[in-house]
Amino acid sequence: MELLKQRILQDGEIRGGNVLKVDSFLNHQLDIPLFEEIGQEFQRLFADKKINKILTIESSGIAVACIAARYFNVPVVFAKKTQSINIDGAVHVTRVQSVTTRRVYEVIVSKKYLGANDHVLIIDDFLANGCAAMGLIDLARNAGATIEGFGVVIEKGFQQGGKLIRADGVDVRSLVTIDSLDEKTGSIVFRD
Ligand code: 5GP
Repeated sequence: MELLKQRILQDGEIRGGNVLKVDSFLNHQLDIPLFEEIGQEFQRLFADKKINKILTIESSGIAVACIAARYFNVPVVFAKKTQSINIDGAVHVTRVQSVTTRRVYEVIVSKKYLGANDHVLIIDDFLANGCAAMGLIDLARNAGATIEGFGVVIEKGFQQGGKLIRADGVDVRSLVTIDSLDEKTGSIVFRD
């Protein structure tokens, strides 16, 4: 998605540990016209799938999932991160390791909002090592839902998540894939 590449080149900041900061348009301040383009692109990429729900994880996946949902005309369910050990029985639960804090979170979705009749599109802002995505896949599978695909805004192609999830049989589509980030020169290389 050319518009997104240009925006990343213009406003993305490379931080240590191969982190790309996109706070000015995707993760903190949100550029809604850009989100609308992103939502339409996901709709185009998954147009042949029968999707009745979008599944994401709090917090940064929520905004992009909500705008995409307008184009699919379906509800969004977001998995909640919780550290509570007193989890209500009526939830699907899995564990996810946070990339930034290294802590392991329990992640839950109510059984009321995710079940065997659902055909879900999973959406997230970034795909790096795939921990968040695998948690969402696990939740959907536990619920007996059908995973129609996984839409990601920025895939870091030099990390393992994309490979792992595609090998698991999930149809992963990224709007842009980054092959390398160089903190010293500021260079960002995209995959064609
Ligand atoms: P994963 O679980 O695939 O390793 O990482 C996914 C999550 O980590 C994303 O939802 C995102 O919040 C965060 N993340 C991973 N890499 C980056 C990055 O380079 N930049 C930003 N802004 N977030 C990232």
